[in-house]
Amino acid sequence: MPKPPLADYRAKRDFTKTPEPAGVTKRSTPPGRRFFCVQKHLASHLHYDFRLEHDGVLLSWAVPKGPSLDPAEKRLAMHVEDHPLDYGDFEGVIPEGYGAGIVMLWDRGTWEPEVEDVRAALERGDLKMRLDGFKLKGSWVLVRTRQVEGRSWLLIKHRDEWSSGELDILEFAPLSVKAGGDFADILAQDQPDIWTSNRPARSGEAGQMFQTIIGRALAIKAEREERGRRKARGGGRTTPAAAGQKKTARSTQKRVPPKAR
Ligand code: MN
Repeated sequence: MPKPPLADYRAKRDFTKTPEPAGVTKRSTPPGRRFFCVQKHLASHLHYDFRLEHDGVLLSWAVPKGPSLDPAEKRLAMHVEDHPLDYGDFEGVIPEGYGAGIVMLWDRGTWEPEVEDVRAALERGDLKMRLDGFKLKGSWVLVRTRQVEGRSWLLIKHRDEWSSGELDILEFAPLSVKAGGDFADILAQDQPDIWTSNRPARSGEAGQMFQTIIGRALAIKAEREERGRRKARGGGRTTPAAAGQKKTARSTQKRVPPKAR
């Protein structure tokens, strides 16, 4: 019996512990348009999750090195479980469990297959498509490699007016298309001290990244709180001298016994 849609997605997650959508509400895509997105995900390793709307779910591939505009670059893309449509807006912090780390909405837009039948193309392992995102545009292909497991594909840019052998799009446009920030900004919106004891990656490149990002997020939050305190102090239009006078007036009043009136 075929599994119900999103069964694998739900089985991997505890929705009492992750802010990721459980996929119960359907995101509405304008009729005739197919949604796509790329989420930059710092977990045990940094990778980019490439997602295409098809048949009510987001088909998903994890791309360790991220997409490249260079047609000579074939980027490994591991086919992973389908995600719910409303995952396409998700950006935030996954505190623990599967995929624990930080998710940034790195690109989003619409896509069009350059084949007649998407299902057949997926079965064949050769899906040609056009992307119309903020960062990724033009013609691309996902091709399955001849591995036994069948989960590894390659994401390749076709040569066109949107391809480039020089521009590294990951470095040129590293920030969120949702809130405009980087990983530290996203973490600062949450609890920057969430991983003081067990961060998702301790060593290697990802471990280094977490250390830097946590430090920056703590600084962003501290600065924001200091600004808030200054505003609160300045907002009452009470000078220290006036405050002192008020206090004196109050204590004088207290000292006057009721009988003396
Ligand atoms: Mn991921």
